[in-house]
Amino acid sequence: MRKHKIEPETNVNAITAWKKRKQWFVDRIGKRVYRCPIKCQCDSCKNGHINGILIHDYDHAIYLHLAEGEMGIRYTDAKYEQ
Ligand SMILES: [Zn+2]
Repeated sequence: MRKHKIEPETNVNAITAWKKRKQWFVDRIGKRVYRCPIKCQCDSCKNGHINGILIHDYDHAIYLHLAEGEMGIRYTDAKYEQ
């Protein structure tokens, strides 16, 4: 029988971390977050770093949270924070 790679405890920790990060975005609805300066130099990343992104509502917060996970983008409160 195939062994599961992820143990239940690990899973709980991963979900807790995911929820915490989701809450980080939800807490910033109506505020501006900044895209970290990563290797990517596309206009979207540069603009997100310089001007930041205003989180409009709950759905936008969720969208950014998912984008961060899927695209390897990182958001912070401060413009020059790494
Ligand atoms: Zn980019």
